[in-house]
Amino acid sequence: MAGEPRSDCLFCKIVVGEVPATIVRETETTVAFRDINPQAPTHVLVIPKEHHADAAALAAAAPGIAADVLREAGEVAAQEKTDDAGYRIVFNTGAGAGQTVFHAHAHVLGGRGLEWPPG
Ligand code: C5P
Repeated sequence: MAGEPRSDCLFCKIVVGEVPATIVRETETTVAFRDINPQAPTHVLVIPKEHHADAAALAAAAPGIAADVLREAGEVAAQEKTDDAGYRIVFNTGAGAGQTVFHAHAHVLGGRGLEWPPG
C-alpha cells in the first residue's frame, strides 16, 4: 500500500534506526540527515517517513507530506546558515537522472557556489 515501509528500502531503515545516520532534524512526518557522500559543505537529505518511490509519487499520494519535506528543506538551510548565500533543493527522479535510492528524498545543497545548469 502507498506509504507503507519497505523491508528492502535503505531509507525506511534509517527512519526506524536500523541503519545509522547523522540526523539533523526530525518531525512527525520527516527526517533530515547528512548525506554519507557530501557534494557540498552542506549536503543534507530530507525524506518523508512514509515510503514513496520518488518526489512525484509522494506529491500524488501525500501532498501534505510533500509540503512538509519542502518546508523542512528550508529549515535545514536556515539551520545550516546557508539560506542567505543561496542553496539548492534537488530531487533526482529516475535512474537516468541519478536517483539511486527509490525512497523520495530532497537533497539540500549549500555552502559553496552552485553552477547552472547542473551536470
Ligand atoms: O538522488 P540519489 O538517489 O542518488 O541520492 C541518494 C543519496 O543517498 C546519495 O547522495 C548517497 O550518498 C546517499 N546515501 C546516504 N546514506 C546511505 C546511503 C546513501 O546518505 N546510507
